Amino acid sequence: MKEKLLSLCHRLAAHFGPLHWWPADTPFEVVIGAFLTQNTAWRNVELAMAGLKQAIPLTPQALCDLSTQRLEELIRPAGFFRQKAQRLQLFSTYLLDRHQGDLAAMLSGPLPQVRDTLLRLKGVGPETADCILLYAAQRPSFVVDAYTRRLLKRLGLLTGDESYAVIRALFMDHLPHQVDLFNAYHALIVEQCKIICRKRPLCESCPLRPQCPALL
Ligand code: SF4
Repeated sequence: MKEKLLSLCHRLAAHFGPLHWWPADTPFEVVIGAFLTQNTAWRNVELAMAGLKQAIPLTPQALCDLSTQRLEELIRPAGFFRQKAQRLQLFSTYLLDRHQGDLAAMLSGPLPQVRDTLLRLKGVGPETADCILLYAAQRPSFVVDAYTRRLLKRLGLLTGDESYAVIRALFMDHLPHQVDLFNAYHALIVEQCKIICRKRPLCESCPLRPQCPALL
């Protein structure tokens, strides 16, 4: 499995070139993006983030100082804005109360324990936790998303019914725990599934075509 996963990453990298993901200026901006991107497309996150950035500095204190209603208005383009506003303010309050706003301190310590702490916070599921760990904290925690599931299923590496934990373990158990590798790999999977292995895949232009049993 290790060879298959590394080979997949290398083929995608050869096709798309070096990719590095998360477009954010600060680690806390990554956290905001990780909440905003839940159940929505990234272009909607960009719209919401642009409005938010114009209105306030992106700090936990500034998020808490906003009325919830105003925060909802600002992040409305991201969808589920009431839920997301509540989650962002709860996260910010926790960060301020428990770590004096020091995100690096909150995300330091043994990875499994830090991940468990994140997962106990309201609105933080496994994908959000892993995004925060990998992209805000530069910790080697593989991010799984719907694109990962789709691609690995089509390549015959998953049935598609596996849980998030099982899919994540596939990468965590077989790949070296390197932040750059995990960062690039996730970005490459996203690129592949956005551009080529779409819902209606463009197999004729796919770099994985020779190995793909699902060729459509
Ligand atoms: S060959 Fe087609 S189905 Fe297979 S990975 Fe490529 S685009 Fe997806």
